[in-house]
Amino acid sequence: MPKEPQKTFEQNMQAMSKMSPAEMAAKIKDLDKICICGKCPTYVGTGEKKLTFCAIGKSTMIKKDKGCVCPGCPVQKTLALRWDRYCLKGSGMDQSVKK
Ligand code: SF4
Ligand code: SF4
Repeated sequence: MPKEPQKTFEQNMQAMSKMSPAEMAAKIKDLDKICICGKCPTYVGTGEKKLTFCAIGKSTMIKKDKGCVCPGCPVQKTLALRWDRYCLKGSGMDQSVKK
């Protein structure tokens, strides 16, 4: 069977926008489990507890850019994200509109 072409980030968001708030919360919880922000130098030591900034948007606690490990994260690939530093620059959705 031919492989389905990879969806763009915008197409993935379109699909997610049809989810109920409960489904969305469950999805983000799943993504939290694979998010690697916890290993990022920008994250470590800030006291931040939240994860998956590509979905939830900027952190209120992270202020200083010390590098970003998002390009190596499986979520980046799964959702076809094209950006980085979501904790500082905003969610994929925010950055998609800006560019
Ligand atoms: S892409 Fe970055 S912010 Fe999103 S889940 Fe992965 S490490 Fe976390
Ligand atoms: S979004 Fe990128 S820069 Fe921010 S904590 Fe996660 S990996 Fe680090």
